[in-house]
Amino acid sequence: MSRKAPALTDFRRIVVKVGSSLLVDMAAGKLRNAWLAALAEDIARLHKDRRDILVVSSGAIALGRSVLKLPLGALKLEDSQAAAAVGQIALARIWAETLGRHGIAAGQILLTLGDTEERRRYLNARSTIDKLLEWKSVPVINENDTVATNEIRYGDNDRLAARVATMMSADCLVLLSDVDGLYDKPPGAGREAKFIALVERVTPEIEAMAGASGSELSRGGMLTKIEAGKIATSAGTHMVIASGRGEHPLKAIIEGAPCTWFLTPANPVTARKKWIAGSLEPKGTLFIDGGAVAALKRGKSLLPAGVKRVDGEFERGDAVVIRDLDGVEVGRGLVAYDVKDAAKIIGKSSGDILNILGFGGRAEMVHRDDLVMGGA
Ligand code: GLU
Repeated sequence: MSRKAPALTDFRRIVVKVGSSLLVDMAAGKLRNAWLAALAEDIARLHKDRRDILVVSSGAIALGRSVLKLPLGALKLEDSQAAAAVGQIALARIWAETLGRHGIAAGQILLTLGDTEERRRYLNARSTIDKLLEWKSVPVINENDTVATNEIRYGDNDRLAARVATMMSADCLVLLSDVDGLYDKPPGAGREAKFIALVERVTPEIEAMAGASGSELSRGGMLTKIEAGKIATSAGTHMVIASGRGEHPLKAIIEGAPCTWFLTPANPVTARKKWIAGSLEPKGTLFIDGGAVAALKRGKSLLPAGVKRVDGEFERGDAVVIRDLDGVEVGRGLVAYDVKDAAKIIGKSSGDILNILGFGGRAEMVHRDDLVMGGA
């Protein structure tokens, strides 16, 4: 049975990726203020409806280039990195001001490839972004272009946005760019191209529909968008490619403007939990009392107070097995403390963590989003 396109308003946590060509009028070398103000209105509306919104914004290189008055034409990597250093300041200010007009605090997050791929850094980035969302801020994310090197960088914000969306268990990723979606042939391939409104699975045929295009300042062509689709949908995030050319692009999606949806078969928490249950080798064990077992079964997080004993050599973010005091496996999860710190705070109330450790870590030993119940 074929599935239907979802509605943007169905989602609880949405990542909106904004391409450089939308934010910056390349010919005039100026920011498209009115367009951004209209987008911010759309964001503010969704935000007011108690949705978590994250923005992945390109434009650092494009803005830097215009501030520095660099000539048009391809930039060498070191030139674009230096341009990004200048442009990112402007970009962050623009977002802070524009969202600020709606009473929304923007928080700047600059990520490298390693920050999303290496587990400890990934967990750190995730908890910072989580905190911003808890405070109802809107994280404004870009690649940390100034330190990224050719071998280890995303280079395009389509895939970065997809990784951010999956890292944050977002249920939807919106890619706004200057194309309105996917056609069955790359542009300029002769014959009239047919618009694809729904992709249920990224097959080789779908991949073949992308040309290797992409303009000079925004690197992502359809190819990186389809790759983003693969990353997002395989981890439980729906994705939509939509045109951002007109004003109010999010409102336009809600009102039925043409766009291409990539559907995920999974749901994000389930996908992460599968990953925790299946692919991580446990590095230790937490033995918990009966009260904690009962709390976990009711869907709660594991607090330090319920842990009686720890065993093994684990670091913060490692997978651990959770057992009851008879040694029966209750579940598995990612632990928020390394073994040394964990041993100091077990049996204690979360409010004492700061006093004991000298720093205030997470209140939970294992957060419920990082926990999978059931024995192996
Ligand atoms: N990180 C780049 C910038 O801010 C953009 C990469 C992209 O266009 O996808 O300029």
